[in-house]
Amino acid sequence: MKDHYGRRINYMRISVTDLCNLRCVYCMPEEGVQKHLHKKNMSFEEIIALIKAGTQLGIDKIRLTGGEPLVRNGIVELVQAIGQIEGIKDLTMTTNGILLPKYAKDLKNAGLNRVNISLDTFDEKKYHQITRWGKLDDVMAGIEAAMAVGMSPIKINTVLINGFNDDEIKKFVNFTIDNPVDVRFIELMPLGESSNYAQNKYISNAEVLKAVPELLAVLEPEKTGPAEYYQLSGAKGRVGLINPISKHFCSECNRIRVTTDGKIKPCLHSDFEIDILKLREEGLTYLQILEKAIGAKPERHLLEDNEKQMVRNMNEIGG
Ligand code: SAM
Ligand code: SF4
Repeated sequence: MKDHYGRRINYMRISVTDLCNLRCVYCMPEEGVQKHLHKKNMSFEEIIALIKAGTQLGIDKIRLTGGEPLVRNGIVELVQAIGQIEGIKDLTMTTNGILLPKYAKDLKNAGLNRVNISLDTFDEKKYHQITRWGKLDDVMAGIEAAMAVGMSPIKINTVLINGFNDDEIKKFVNFTIDNPVDVRFIELMPLGESSNYAQNKYISNAEVLKAVPELLAVLEPEKTGPAEYYQLSGAKGRVGLINPISKHFCSECNRIRVTTDGKIKPCLHSDFEIDILKLREEGLTYLQILEKAIGAKPERHLLEDNEKQMVRNMNEIGG
């Protein structure tokens, strides 16, 4: 379905849990999600029904995210069920990778052919610091496990943080020389937990090109997402720049997001949400709810105007 600004919306990102086995400082508070604030997850039945309705409107790409999607009970079964929905051409997941050694094989067998893994540093101590308790070895084993079962492409998501990992830009770029992975630098966004954190830690992705001027732009015949791709000559992998702040890509936006507790966010950078359960109780079908959500997509986000700070943390939205 096209929205009011002529953008074809074919991509649904679903946060399947707000819980996580890490506590990245820009994403979640240290104490995690307090039990009384932990909102009821959408059930698998509701998720499947929503996706099926979405396919009638041209949704053909699904990303499962979180929180950490691999901590949700039954995640492999959910992947399998979504993979069988007619009309879904691309099913993927964003994960911190910690549980991939345990689940990669089952996920691949269930139909998950590709995965994005988050990694902000190659330094053990810094990894522990940014995730508040994670172990670098675990995520590296997760990347290897995904490669070993043949998931492809594997994309590494790296949030660029001033004074934290800007000194590792070259290391990340060099990781693509021998590894067939896409390393994608993402600009730090000020929302929820990170609103204050991001204020003096944001740097533009232009720093990547300054640090590694040898990167050559990759011409993509058909752009499939917001990343602009570059490559070192002869490298097996590529380097992507995702610039939500410095060069917003609203005119190309093709997605809607579903939060853990069943709210559709037409735009990541707006607190406006559509409450699926409430509208269901009022008698709307999933199809009608999705039409409403796509119809409510704003033309562009207002982040750079500093209009207001977003309330929700990323772990409820999924990135
Ligand atoms: N737990 C999984 C993971 O870390 O990959 C999936 C959920 S996480 C919220 C999805 C992505 O959002 C991660 O790559 C994370 O680094 C990114 N993210 C979280 N907070 C962010 C922020 N304030 N700005 C930019 N990216 C953010
Ligand atoms: Fe968890 Fe992902 Fe948020 Fe880190 S970015 S706290 S791994 S949900």
